[in-house]
Amino acid sequence: MTTRRKFLVSSALATTAAMLGMKSIFSRSETPEKKVIKINTVRKPVVISTWDHGIAANEAAWKILSTNGRALDAVEQGVRVTESDPNITSVGYGGLPDRDGRVTLDACIMDENLNAGSVACIEHIKNPISVARLVMEKTPHVMLVGDGALQFALQNGFKRENLLTKKSKKAWEEWLKTSHYKPVDRNNHDTIGMIALDNNGNLSGACTTSGIAWKIHGRVGDSPIPGDGLYVDNEVGGAASTGVGEAVMRTCGSYFVVELMRAGKSPEEACKLAVERILKWNMKYNDLQVAYIALNKNGEAGGYAVKKGFQYALYADGKNQLIDAKYSES
Ligand code: ASP
Repeated sequence: MTTRRKFLVSSALATTAAMLGMKSIFSRSETPEKKVIKINTVRKPVVISTWDHGIAANEAAWKILSTNGRALDAVEQGVRVTESDPNITSVGYGGLPDRDGRVTLDACIMDENLNAGSVACIEHIKNPISVARLVMEKTPHVMLVGDGALQFALQNGFKRENLLTKKSKKAWEEWLKTSHYKPVDRNNHDTIGMIALDNNGNLSGACTTSGIAWKIHGRVGDSPIPGDGLYVDNEVGGAASTGVGEAVMRTCGSYFVVELMRAGKSPEEACKLAVERILKWNMKYNDLQVAYIALNKNGEAGGYAVKKGFQYALYADGKNQLIDAKYSES
C-alpha cells in the first residue's frame, strides 16, 4: 500500500524531474525494510558516431536534434557530411576504390519503426545514404544492389558523378605497383556509423562506407546489412559497427549489441560482449580491428573495440566530444 510519506517522496522526485525537463521512471522495492526509489532519467537529444570524422557529422545532426527535429533526419544529414568530404577516403566521394579502380559504396538507414533501407555496391552516387532512405520510404524492399541501385537513384533525380578523386586514384595506382591485398590494413577502411535519440525519445541510425580498399569487385561488407553494420530497435536502442565487416557479419554484430541491451547490459558492456564474441571464435584475420558504438533509449552511450585506436564522437548535454574507446587487445 502506498503510504503518505512514500507518496510525498515520489511526488517531490517527479516534480524535480519535471523541472529538469527529464522523463522519470519510478521503480520501488516492495520490501518494507528497503524502501528504494530509483529514477532512470532520459538524457536527450544525444548523437553518437564512429571515428574522428564523427565530430563534424555530429554537428550537422545536432542542428536538427537541438531544434526538435527527427532522429532520422539527423542521422541522414549527419553522415552526408562525411560522404561529401573528398578528403575522407573511407566513405562516399573520395573513397578508395576496389582493385579494379571502381569506387563502390554501401549504406544503410533505420528509423524508429524498424523500417530499414539499404544500398550495396552502388557506384557514381555521392550520397548513398539518401538513396538508402528512398529505398526504405518509396519501395516495398529493404535493399537494392549494384546497377539496380544506381538506376533507381538516377530515376529518382540523383546525379551521376565521378567519385574517384585525384588523391584516391593516385593511391590506387601506387597500390597497383605491388597489388598486395591486405584487407585488414586499419588505415584503409573507416566507416561512419551514427545513432541518434531525438527530443521525442525516438531512435534512428545510419551507416555508410566505401568498404575495404582494394577489395574484390562486388565485395559487400557489414555496413549495408541491417543487423550487421547497423541495427535500431526503438524499444531498446541502436548500435553500429566499423572494422573488418566479415567478422561482424559472422556474428550479426549490431543486432547482438541491441539484444544484449534488451537483456539489461549497458551500451558499453553490450559492445564489449559483442567484441568478445568475435575474439572467442579466434577469427583468422591478421591485425583484426572491429569496434561498436551503442546508444540506448535512456540516452546512455558507449563503445568498445578489439584494439587500441578506436575513437567515437559523442554529442550530449550540449557538448561534442571525441572519446577513446576501451578495447580488449593491446
Ligand atoms: N566495416 C566496413 C566494411 O567491412 C569497413 C570499416 O568500417 O572500416 O566494409
